[in-house]
Amino acid sequence: MLNSAALGFVVLLSAVEAATNERVNYDYYKYHSMPEISKWMTQIAQNHSEVVTIMDYGQTYEKRNISLLKIGLSTGERKKAIWMDCGIHAREWIAPAFCQYFVSQILQTYKTDPKMEEMMKNMDFYVTPVLNVDGYLYSWKDNNTRLWRKNRSPGPPGCKCDGTDLNRNFDANWGTVGVSSDCCSNTYCGSDRVSEPEAQAVASFVGSRKEDILCFLTIHSYSQLLLIPYGNPNFIAPNQDELMEVGLAAAEAIKAVHGKIYKVGTSPAVLYANSGSSRDWARMQGIPFAYTFELRDNGTFGFELPENQIQPTCEEAYSGALHIVNYVHDKTFKGPMDGAGATAAAALWTVLLAVGVTSASM
Ligand SMILES: [Zn+2]
Repeated sequence: MLNSAALGFVVLLSAVEAATNERVNYDYYKYHSMPEISKWMTQIAQNHSEVVTIMDYGQTYEKRNISLLKIGLSTGERKKAIWMDCGIHAREWIAPAFCQYFVSQILQTYKTDPKMEEMMKNMDFYVTPVLNVDGYLYSWKDNNTRLWRKNRSPGPPGCKCDGTDLNRNFDANWGTVGVSSDCCSNTYCGSDRVSEPEAQAVASFVGSRKEDILCFLTIHSYSQLLLIPYGNPNFIAPNQDELMEVGLAAAEAIKAVHGKIYKVGTSPAVLYANSGSSRDWARMQGIPFAYTFELRDNGTFGFELPENQIQPTCEEAYSGALHIVNYVHDKTFKGPMDGAGATAAAALWTVLLAVGVTSASM
């Protein structure tokens, strides 16, 4: 028979065990199916109820909930926020794996790292592990559907193909460049701007909080890039220099982890022109920092990145994302960059200038 002290000990032990279980028993270095990810979200919210809540903010075409984890220390006041979404493109499995890793890292860190605790007090993290839920499920169906990219809504009347490219469907120079009006194309931009329920869900959630969202990070694969607005070469973000500077420093942080090179620039400069992306839409809404991460690799395995690369990919991308989040936080809550930051940025520009001067003189 247990006395009350022993019982208390058992209760305490099981709480500790629950928190440890999700770290030890959940394998962050495997790809997980949608039901597993949903279950993981519930588990995370239960085990960290002091900082995590699940919010359903929309439904997919096939009427599944689109959910995010809201992570932050409650202050009772209106807070600034960081947005991160993964899995807008179904086949990019490394992206949802990264969102889950990101969540586990910040939840592990904030209890011991005063900087992360401060950020969790000042800001909420809104993390959507899988945005295109229908598409992700479809990409898990069999070998023939593994490389599905779009959502699962039917094409316009008379079209024999399904799916709209959600990252061409946002109201950002919609339908102008880098899209297709052929409903069978992988870059079909939809029948109208924001025609798709998944894009509507993001637009309405983020749109209603746009004054509070400091930073919009949308995670894709592959190509090892950090993309800044805009995809349409006729438009330039008013803070393009700062976006580049912060992006280049994030790429340095990425390289420092496993030596991988990530290129930084606008889509037309380093990839291809496009329109209707969520990143461009976020910047046009006035969210100052908007980045697309294109994770590993450079095409050897492409969308089918082997599971043994999940850990290094997540580790380096976490370092890059954290650099951006730190910068945005400090700029907002500590005023202009401090001496050390300014010196580091100046040093970086010196190097770039030197490279520019060298190549121009060759
Ligand atoms: Zn993508």
